[in-house]
Amino acid sequence: MSGQLNLVLLGKQGAGKGTQSLRLCKRYGLAHISTGDILRAAVAGDTPLGREVKSVLDAGGLVSDELVNKLVEDRFKDPDAATGGLLDGFPRTTGQAEALEALLGKDGIKLVINIDLPNELVLQRLTSRRVCQECGTIYKDTDVAAISGTCEVCGGDVIQRSDDKPEAIEKRLAMFERDTRPLLAFYESRGLLVTVNGDQSPDEVTSDIEQQLRSRGVA
Ligand code: AMP
Repeated sequence: MSGQLNLVLLGKQGAGKGTQSLRLCKRYGLAHISTGDILRAAVAGDTPLGREVKSVLDAGGLVSDELVNKLVEDRFKDPDAATGGLLDGFPRTTGQAEALEALLGKDGIKLVINIDLPNELVLQRLTSRRVCQECGTIYKDTDVAAISGTCEVCGGDVIQRSDDKPEAIEKRLAMFERDTRPLLAFYESRGLLVTVNGDQSPDEVTSDIEQQLRSRGVA
């Protein structure tokens, strides 16, 4: 799988991973591999997987490594992932990072991009975030699409995620420190980590990421 362009986006919830993922996938022709989207779709579709994980998602907890590792392994078998994927929200623990390395091989990941944002800005952003249930487009609570409840891109329902409520956000921030922060050191030690400032406009963040990809000769 070393010919593939596989990228990992890391960052706290609300740092802009979703928005940047959609842009990068379009630009570089990558499959968007978002474990959060897969899990939410399963909950919305009331599938056996959805029923298993619903309470964990509602409480802002983490689904088991075993379960998400398998979801990602399966997702890489889809035709659109043949040329590579952009991992969004996975890995979240070092156990998942090790599983991903075992799946893709040592050279399987070309770059890990950490979008950095302080906690107070995360809280501000997440409580006002609304998202299209169908296509994942992100809106602010003051946007027309959020007020009308209808996505401007696909006509899907625009909602507030149950895990974007304040108590769930605090819990997720604590989990980021405990489970995900160690991943930065994991990828730093492999020479794969770059950090971009998330407290900028989406266009500026995209431009910083593209520059990092170019300067590293990745894309
Ligand atoms: P996200 O959209 O990435 O914030 O994910 C939404 C929710 O799905 C998280 O709060 C977790 O409950 C679950 N989830 C998504 N990705 C993972 C993962 N890699 N490991 C464990 N749980 C996950």
